[in-house]
Parts: sequence; structure tokens; C-alpha cells
Amino acid sequence: MGDWLRRHASTSFTPSVFRLISRAVWAGYPERISLLWVLHYLRAAGGLLPVILNEGGAQDQRIVGGSQVISERMATDLGDRILLGRPALRVEDHAPDRMRVVTPVETFTADRVIVAMAPSDTVRIDFAPALPKPRAELASGWARLPRLPLVKAAVLYKTPFWRADGLNGAMQSDRGAIQLVFDNSPDDASMGVLSCFLSVVESPQFADRKSREEGLREELARYFGAKALDATGYVEKDWSTDPWSTGCITPLTPGILTAGGEHLRKPSGRIFWAGTESAKRWCGYMDGAISAGARAANEVHASLKT
Ligand SMILES: Cc1cc2nc3c(=O)[nH]c(=O)nc-3n(C[C@H](O)[C@H](O)[C@H](O)COP(=O)(O)OP(=O)(O)OC[C@H]3O[C@@H](n4cnc5c(N)ncnc54)[C@H](O)[C@@H]3O)c2cc1C
Repeated sequence: MGDWLRRHASTSFTPSVFRLISRAVWAGYPERISLLWVLHYLRAAGGLLPVILNEGGAQDQRIVGGSQVISERMATDLGDRILLGRPALRVEDHAPDRMRVVTPVETFTADRVIVAMAPSDTVRIDFAPALPKPRAELASGWARLPRLPLVKAAVLYKTPFWRADGLNGAMQSDRGAIQLVFDNSPDDASMGVLSCFLSVVESPQFADRKSREEGLREELARYFGAKALDATGYVEKDWSTDPWSTGCITPLTPGILTAGGEHLRKPSGRIFWAGTESAKRWCGYMDGAISAGARAANEVHASLKT
């Protein structure tokens, strides 16, 4: 992407803007990110503007109660059909016999298997027989990317005080410690919430949770005034430390998609691939995860009829 920008940017402003965008959207800088990945991502979103716009774009809507509500309600409907604490360790396909999915607790058999996670997450599963080489290399290339600390923090306030000051609670910076801020207050404004995205590598002063909890308020005060110092609570998650979620906001480097992109959603025998990275629409987003799951289910359905 960096090379392309150098060749095609008509003003020096363009690379600066793309730096800001690539840091926020792919957690990396243009000089390392694959242009093919960027194009794949933008095409799936319907262009650049839908990715970066708040209104009418990727950040246009929120879910009342938080996005976990979707999972919680689905879990209620599915009841005891959801089995937790059973990571898939091994997927065996000894056709024409049924497939076997081995977990630490029990082994399941199935006619088809849908794997719904980022390609990098699939490297922890032992596939027997081995996956086609390009698919295996796609996953291992994805998994080799460095996992840089990417912290999402919510700073809580009694009220969304910035609104009374005529501010929308949004901020994006190409040099401040905080990359992005959104007003994430609940619909009824019963409290104020500023969601912050932080790249710890570039802000070593925020290397630990305590320094972030204290320091982020001061950073926010730079943008939203002294009232930002009076936070009532703090919640954070460093996604790079989550052992089960290695994908999503990935600065995919050149070569990985060129070699194996075709295998993002191409079934490997009786194994079908879902996960947002395989989505044709809104790759990288929740929307993409849902449509990829539906697509994989349709593929399984069709393959069972043949
Ligand atoms: C900080 C952050 C902010 C985001 N903000 C937004 C946003 O505002 N809007 C939006 O649309 N999207 C957002 N996303 C992206 C969104 O979270 C993802 O697109 C979505 O979660 C992808 O869903 P998925 O089902 O493909 O993968 P995942 O959500 O990663 O689900 C994969 C599941 O597989 C499980 N798993 C992994 N390995 C195994 C195994 N071996 N056996 C069994 N299970 C396994 C994992 O535990 C996980 O539950 C954000 C992501 C991050 C990290």
C-alpha cells in the first residue's frame, strides 16, 4: 500500500490521511500492509467512505445494550446446544466415514464441518489429512503477523458531558496516544462512555493498565475539557492477549493473499470456511461474520444434496 501511495498520491496530504486510516482500520501503517488486502477490505465495504464514515458508514449504528446482546440472545434460543469449554483440537476426515472433531472433553462426528474463525485462529487446529498447501499457508502467514497490543478502553462518566459543550465525543489522531475515540454512551444517556482505541507500542507511557486508567483521562481532557478528568469508571481489553481471537483488525502483509487468497472461502474437502475474513460484504466486521456463516451453511446444505 505504501508503494502504491508513493506512486499515486497527488498531494503530500494523501499519504498522511491514509496513514491515519490504515492505523485505525488495519492496526498498521501503509508501508507494511498489503494493497490487495486493503482493496479486498474496501470492496467488501462498498468503498473507502463506508469504512471511514461514522454517519452512513461502518460506525453508523450501535446495538442497544452492547453487541454482546446478540450473542446472549442467540445463546438463550440455542440453549444447551451451545457447548462451551471444548476448543476443537483436531479435525479428522477419513472419507467416506463421518468426520471427527476432537475436543479435550469429547469427540463429535459430523458429515461436514464449518470452521468459523479467523484464518490465524485455525492454525491451532490439527487437520488430518493436512489441509491443501495454499490454505495451510494462508493461515500460517496470517498467524505469523506480529500481535501488537491493541487496547480498547471505555472511560465512564456520570453523564455524556461533552454533548452539552456542543461536542460529539469523537476524535481521531495520527500522533496522540489515543488513535480513536467514540461516544459510546447508552441510548438513554444514563451515563457517559468514551470508547478509546490505543496503540500501546506507540505510547510506551501507557504500557500497563494502571497508567492507562489514569493517563487516558488526561489525554481525553485535551480534547473534551477538564470534565474528562472526573471519570467514574474504567474498563479495558487488550485484544492481542486474547488467545482465541487473533484476527479481525489485521495488518496483513504483502504476499499472503496473493498466494492463498483464493482459499479464504474455498471449501477444503468436507471442511467449509466462515469467519468475517472470508466475507464478501463487510469483511472484518460483525456483518461479514454473519453473512460468511450463512454462506458456509448454504454451501454445506448444497454439498449434502449432491
Ligand atoms: C477492538 C475491536 C473492535 C471492533 N469493533 C467492531 C465494530 O465496531 N463493528 C463491527 O462490526 N465489528 C467490530 N469488530 C470486529 C468484530 O469483532 C469481528 O468482525 C467479529 O467478531 C468476527 O466474528 P467471527 O465469528 O468471524 O470471529 P470471532 O468473533 O473471532 O469468533 C471466532 C470464535 O471462535 C472461537 N474459537 C477460536 N478457536 C477455536 C477452536 N479451536 N475451537 C473452538 N472455538 C474456537 C473463538 O473463541 C471465538 O469465539 C471489532 C473487533 C475488535 C477486536
